Amino acid sequence: MGEPTQTTKGVTPLPLDNDHWRCRWLHLDGGLEMHRVSSIEWQDGEMIYGDGVTMCERRGHLHMPGIFSRMDADRCPQCCAALGIPSGQGAPFNVDIDEPQQ
Ligand SMILES: [Zn+2]
Repeated sequence: MGEPTQTTKGVTPLPLDNDHWRCRWLHLDGGLEMHRVSSIEWQDGEMIYGDGVTMCERRGHLHMPGIFSRMDADRCPQCCAALGIPSGQGAPFNVDIDEPQQ
């Protein structure tokens, strides 16, 4: 499938209003970290999972974490750096961190 590409084009966080904050930080299948979604093609009509790209430029199938993961899972440090927010645990909305560009 070719070699990994280091893109220089900027990725931007997918704008999601506060009614959909749960959709902002998703798990890649098989991973425990939460990544900030940059773009996604929702596959279920309810914004729970789909194929997408994260702020750290990973591409794959993404799905919404369960409630305990949203509170406890590590945020991907690269996604946090891309957003300019501290790395740590929990969805930013849950831990009172304001994300840029909502
Ligand atoms: Zn990430």
